[in-house]
Amino acid sequence: MQKKFIVVLGGGISGYGSAILAKKKGFGVFLSDSGRIADRYRERLDEWGVPYEQGGHTEERILAASEVVKSPGIPETAPIVRRIREAGIPVISEMEFAGRYIGRARCICITGSNGKTTTTSLIYKIMRDAGLNVALGGNIGESFAYSVATGDYDWYVLELSSFQLDGMYRFRAHIGVLMNITPDHLDRYDHCFQNYADSKMRIVRNMTSRDWFVYSGDDEVIWRQLPRYDLRMKQLPFAAKNAVASGAGDAFLCDGRFTAAAGKSSVEIDTAKLRIKGLHNAYNAMAAALATLAAGVAPARIRRSLYEFAPVEHRLEPVAEKGGVLWINDSKATNVDSVYYALESMKRPVVWIAGGTDKGNDYGPLKAFAREKVHTLVCMGLDNAKLLSEFAGVVPEVIPTSSLDGAMTAAKAAAREGDAVLLSPACASFDLFRNYEDRGERFKRWVNENA
Ligand code: ADP
Repeated sequence: MQKKFIVVLGGGISGYGSAILAKKKGFGVFLSDSGRIADRYRERLDEWGVPYEQGGHTEERILAASEVVKSPGIPETAPIVRRIREAGIPVISEMEFAGRYIGRARCICITGSNGKTTTTSLIYKIMRDAGLNVALGGNIGESFAYSVATGDYDWYVLELSSFQLDGMYRFRAHIGVLMNITPDHLDRYDHCFQNYADSKMRIVRNMTSRDWFVYSGDDEVIWRQLPRYDLRMKQLPFAAKNAVASGAGDAFLCDGRFTAAAGKSSVEIDTAKLRIKGLHNAYNAMAAALATLAAGVAPARIRRSLYEFAPVEHRLEPVAEKGGVLWINDSKATNVDSVYYALESMKRPVVWIAGGTDKGNDYGPLKAFAREKVHTLVCMGLDNAKLLSEFAGVVPEVIPTSSLDGAMTAAKAAAREGDAVLLSPACASFDLFRNYEDRGERFKRWVNENA
């Protein structure tokens, strides 16, 4: 029989790992990237003797594939993907590919529109602190496929974007976590919210009656999707509004406390003792507690790790308090829902820095909190017209600026003792910055040097 020939499209974190795993499994393999492959990945590809190209795609080599592993960043509309589809070659994601080779290990998979990284990091910390043999992967940490190729883990904790879920067919999450479904990335889903919701719901595919599904019982979009699926797994809803206990357990937030219960074990958490603040982080903590109880971690260990966990960089990260003003970096808030929870969590009067590349945002949901808590909105970006007009009558002062320095200077001048200055943009960062990390890092540098 002819040896299977795997083509990997994209030489980023998921691509290089998949190519190395394919090589390790003895398949023919070729990696192709239309851009430049980072040096650290090329070094590893060379080490493993994986052939690759960069700066373009050689079609006839790619179309000889028996299967293509596509990196999540490459859209379906890319000409090379269309050619592969026309040729009838199966296209899968890194998760689907690597999931075939995990043996008896189990996967905890986290998805949703917001809260993925925080919840994934919480779960990973709890599992690692408990002494389990666990790898972190997906959108975060090391490549999942590379971990499968080079390690021998009992558990994988994987953060999954909708793009990764799209290329998953037989992959099974043993513990699936769905945080929420709110509009995001609609440009990649034909501007159809249902398509995006369908993509998120792929997390429940292939789950069996031995598996666990942790999800938000407060999210109406999720509720509307559930009846459309054959849900045989044990369900663990978490909520702060709708009490929806399932026979398998649940978590409900009341007066700042929750008890998470899964099967026979449970853990009680006082959210005032968490270092991550706000209702959204209570949701993240409930989800993490349920998932790790389901994984069999002892309640006392879960409690200790949750209380220790510090905010992830660029997510409501307190930077410094200077002259009584607290500066907070929430650069990762690139959509409206994440800003909603940022404003919700503010206990002080707020100078709010927002703006950037608008993704067709509906700012309506933010107005009540803005009216209640924000006294100055500093709009930072090349095109602020929409933000300015939406909040002009809502917030006492609205200041347009077109650079980080301009925005920070305006924010400093507007902030009074006891205020918080919150960078929570609701927009992508590409007009003034390389990415959200660059935006957050420059914000922090300015605060440390000039605030
Ligand atoms: P993701 O990986 O899904 O983008 P992050 O944990 O990186 O999620 O958080 C992204 C942004 O969303 C941050 O601004 C954060 O404060 C906010 N956020 C975190 N958890 C939630 C949640 N459960 N619901 C809504 N927003 C959240």
